[in-house]
Amino acid sequence: MEKQTNNNTSNPKRTGSRRSSIVRRPHQSSQTKPNNTQNRTPNTNQNRTTHTNNSNNTNTQNRPTHTNNNQNRSNQAVRPPHKTGTGPSTQKRTPNKPSARRGPAKRRPMRPMKKKVIHKKSLRNQNNKYPTLEKNVIRIIPLGGVEQIGVNMTAIEMNGQIIVIDAGIGFSNEDTPGIDYMIPNTTYLEENKDKIRALVITHGHLDHIGAIPYLYNQIGKPPIYTREFGALLIKSKCSEFPGVDPKIVVVTADDGDISISEDFKIKFFGLTHSIPDSTGIIIKTPYGGIVTTGDVRVDNIDGVPLEKEFEQYKLFKNENVLLMTMDSTGIPYPGWSASESEVIETIDGIIKNVPGRAIIASFASQVERLVGFIESAKKYGKYVVIEGRSMNTNLGIAKELKLTDFSHVISADEMNDHPPHKIVMVVTGSQGEEFAALMRISNKTHRTVILEPTDTIVLSSSVVPGNDYAVDKLKDNLYRSEAKIVTYMDNVVHASGHGKRAELTWIHEQIDYKFFMPIHGNYYRLKMHAELAETLGAKPENIVVPDNGSIIEIRDEGKTIIKLDKKVPGDPRIVDGFSVSEEQHLVIRDRKILAEDGIFVIVVMLDRKTKKLKKSPDLISRGFVVLKDNKDMLTNARTLIKKTVEEAAENMNPIDFDYIKDVTANKLTKFLMQASGKRPEVIPVILSS
Ligand SMILES: [Zn+2]
Ligand SMILES: [Zn+2]
Repeated sequence: MEKQTNNNTSNPKRTGSRRSSIVRRPHQSSQTKPNNTQNRTPNTNQNRTTHTNNSNNTNTQNRPTHTNNNQNRSNQAVRPPHKTGTGPSTQKRTPNKPSARRGPAKRRPMRPMKKKVIHKKSLRNQNNKYPTLEKNVIRIIPLGGVEQIGVNMTAIEMNGQIIVIDAGIGFSNEDTPGIDYMIPNTTYLEENKDKIRALVITHGHLDHIGAIPYLYNQIGKPPIYTREFGALLIKSKCSEFPGVDPKIVVVTADDGDISISEDFKIKFFGLTHSIPDSTGIIIKTPYGGIVTTGDVRVDNIDGVPLEKEFEQYKLFKNENVLLMTMDSTGIPYPGWSASESEVIETIDGIIKNVPGRAIIASFASQVERLVGFIESAKKYGKYVVIEGRSMNTNLGIAKELKLTDFSHVISADEMNDHPPHKIVMVVTGSQGEEFAALMRISNKTHRTVILEPTDTIVLSSSVVPGNDYAVDKLKDNLYRSEAKIVTYMDNVVHASGHGKRAELTWIHEQIDYKFFMPIHGNYYRLKMHAELAETLGAKPENIVVPDNGSIIEIRDEGKTIIKLDKKVPGDPRIVDGFSVSEEQHLVIRDRKILAEDGIFVIVVMLDRKTKKLKKSPDLISRGFVVLKDNKDMLTNARTLIKKTVEEAAENMNPIDFDYIKDVTANKLTKFLMQASGKRPEVIPVILSS
């Protein structure tokens, strides 16, 4: 029995650097390698360079044609040959400067083709030995979502049976430029897939279901237990991926305990979030229930929970709860969040009274609210235009489930058949996403919508941390029009789907649990949530703050909880284009260097016989400095390169090109750092004849 040891957060993860090999799963066709990720993955076995004598010769074929040694073409697209070395990969980087470029992930527009995913198997964890799980001990392993927002997944194991809760994605952030998603690390589950009896889903948001297509086959295709709305979203998501055919068991509100295996039963319970069919789950074990709320808020009016909230939690009066795990997203914010019904009411008033079009931007995930907008429009005899792919997907399912009347929903092309005051547009893009409808409307590139002074734009959303800059840009654009803008700062037009601290406190008070483990949040959120639990009476030794991959065990027939020192692999895997890998941080590291300091390519032509350069080195830079303004530096760089290469080659026979490139890259990096204060990625290319 021990208090959580929170100080072991330094993951061994960032230090490994082995090259991943591609393992094609049976369902993947072998012709799929659509991007050049592999080419860009540094061969880190050699640490610095990948050139061999042979590759130098090959490179001659596609070598760039440089006609001018004094080239100043810092913007021309002269590509370095393929398979060039990646420069010194083990150099210590200067500390990251705060990046000026912030904003939401720039999601690429929808890919037209089916997504054939290639899994790059990690070599890193193959010799990992986990402690054996003793009989009648319950093991809980958060595999994602406890060191970040998103990537949610938790595994519960006992006596050779495993239940997995949720399988979500996380989005790119400043640490992961350019990637598509992060998904949970399922190495442990893959190694134990025979034991997996079920994947249970709390609700249909992408941070809970989005990873299913990427990992479902890998973990042995277990049955997925979900409520109906989630089921349809999972099917829709998986339909984009060939070979992923989930076995779905739809759980209804009336289903009581569902028997999963010898030691596990599950029970779903309704709770309030922002998408239909949001549920909490109780996994019933011989020693009591393990509860996860999933994402949760408490609908309230001025801090008084609505009657339905009491209804939803009253089952816990008779429930023996061993371990409570709970959403921590909203913990930093004190008090109660605004009532969702108040939000819908406010926007109902706007829809009723606007002189022209109402253009409402919200999160596609706020399905219940979007349905509210559609109902308001109906009430006032207006037509609804839905713009945005995710919005259409989610509302398409709401339509399929007949959650409301969609007969007055029209296409954007039909919009001009009606006067502006009869139109309500519901659009994506409230976070300033580059390709979303609202951004296109704001920067006048939308196909059909030109803003008019009579238009009213409602941003029914908050600013997601990290998106501030993009949202400011969006607002700048919008305010340049004559349209009226309403944001959450002007009126109650948004409430979060994640309960603030008072709501979470209220839920704690409804459930009498023994152990507590905060989930869904980054470290400080989890820690704050643990502190809240303690102030509410939980004993410190009964609270565990996990990391991704932590092994938590409930021992002694449910009497003690412990976090083991040993972890299972918990580093989220990265989905980048079509490849899935946990080694992708090497690519990301390069992207960061390129983004911050640029790239500097040196091309030299070495005469094998004389060991002298045949001509002055060619220099190519991108994103580093303007070459023509730095002529002296370049002249000195050329002199240094020539001297370094010739000296290194002087007594070599045969010439060790890798060594020469190492030395040259090192010297140049130091020189450029001193001369410019920048540390670009230096890539030496040596051609020989
Ligand atoms: Zn959610
Ligand atoms: Zn979530």
